[in-house]
Amino acid sequence: MGGRWRRAAWIAGYFALVCAPVVVLLAGGLHPPGERAWEFSMGLGFAGLGLFGLQFVLTARFRRLTSPFGIDVVYLLHRYLAWIAIGLVATHFAILWLFYEDALGVLDPREARWELTSGRAALLLLGAAVVTSQWRKRLRLEYGAWRYLHAGLATTGFAAAVAHVLGVGTYTALSGTTAVWVALTASWLGAILWVRLVKPWRQVGAPYRVVDVRARPGDVATLVLEPQGHPGMRRFAPGQFAWLTLRSSPFLLREHPFSIESPPEELPRMHFGIKALGDFTGTVRDITPGEIAYLDGPYGVFSVDAHPEATGYVFIAGGIGVTPILSMLRSLAERGATRPLWLFYGNATISESSYRAEIDGLAARLRLTVVHVLADPPESWSGERGYVTRDIIERHLPCSREGLVCFLCGPTPMTEAARAALVDLGVPQSHIRTEVFEFV
Ligand SMILES: Cc1cc2nc3c(=O)[nH]c(=O)nc-3n(C[C@H](O)[C@H](O)[C@H](O)COP(=O)(O)OP(=O)(O)OC[C@H]3O[C@@H](n4cnc5c(N)ncnc54)[C@H](O)[C@@H]3O)c2cc1C
Repeated sequence: MGGRWRRAAWIAGYFALVCAPVVVLLAGGLHPPGERAWEFSMGLGFAGLGLFGLQFVLTARFRRLTSPFGIDVVYLLHRYLAWIAIGLVATHFAILWLFYEDALGVLDPREARWELTSGRAALLLLGAAVVTSQWRKRLRLEYGAWRYLHAGLATTGFAAAVAHVLGVGTYTALSGTTAVWVALTASWLGAILWVRLVKPWRQVGAPYRVVDVRARPGDVATLVLEPQGHPGMRRFAPGQFAWLTLRSSPFLLREHPFSIESPPEELPRMHFGIKALGDFTGTVRDITPGEIAYLDGPYGVFSVDAHPEATGYVFIAGGIGVTPILSMLRSLAERGATRPLWLFYGNATISESSYRAEIDGLAARLRLTVVHVLADPPESWSGERGYVTRDIIERHLPCSREGLVCFLCGPTPMTEAARAALVDLGVPQSHIRTEVFEFV
């Protein structure tokens, strides 16, 4: 099935599943008949719950689901849909409160019916999950701590919501509907078990060993991994990434995403180029050969392999954003590619340019034009200065640019400016691919 059809099939399946709880509601019969606001409120509650349930599926890293869209797009969708879902559930509660306050009874959990308290707790827990994710940085929540909090709030909130629906029972008590409801819930929870138990368990059974740690300029270290006691990753497309766990168990939610820096032709050996920027990445240079690592991957759609029709490839990298591009260049060199290639490699200073020598070596094996751009170059520098701007790109690309496919990876201001420049220079939007080193 082509990519467009696969995307359409997933979207149709998604809507069918979101509607499934509403079907359960309708199968249970409307109650009390004729009360439009009541019925509307119930519809909203069930649709909100359907959306929340599918949030677990979206983040379960099912490769078949994420590959047609790109996992970053799926995560972005997850974030927007959470707002819609909490809006639906909050409106469900608000309508009941405004028009049917008696049905809600007292709010005090010591006196209230447990299933109604459970519904209110679900609203608070799921609301907290959405708010703490949206404003994580503003709330100064460290990423690792936020992940535990998010998993806890989302799982308990969803469980409370299901208990509320089953406890109230009005729409699920009819014969057959309880079974449908339990099956739906089980499939949603299955997604959690898949990503939090089955996947880590598989990783534990297929560990990797660090065989080398290479320090590079600009606070970057390249980790070289080899599978231990198993054949390793069978294939990946150059430019893809994997979740890496080091000095921890895959069950503990401590994995970090990193682009695979090496080409697939070097499998089963894999390299990851990691820049020391935070708590975890700052410890990578202290890793020693022999330590165990776990991988979950490959993921992502940022790859030349997804664009075989291109007349040439343009790569624009900022700093450590060069790692997926290196994988693509190395792979193209291994395959003896003859297409014209351009790499614009932006760095702050010459010492930050971690892969300069290697890239110049690749230029000798490929039809590759390398343009090093330094924001703060030494006086003797004869290359491009400043940032990767429209003028710099225009100076080095050929006049005919419609068939080129461009890959941008680096800080968001850089990729956005480069995207605008490329479109201005005649590259179609659909030929521009971006990898962001942060899931927004
Ligand atoms: C698809 C992708 C590919 C990447 N490839 C590379 C690469 O090749 N080389 C490289 O050096 N960096 C890469 N990164 C970035 C790298 O994952 C982060 O720098 C790293 O996770 C930061 O962790 P920290 O604890 O050192 O920093 P912190 O200071 O704790 O975090 C800095 C920021 O990184 C993000 N982050 C932190 N932990 C995680 C996590 N477990 N999962 C997801 N995001 C997290 C958060 O947005 C956080 O605000 C990539 C990121 C993504 C999404």
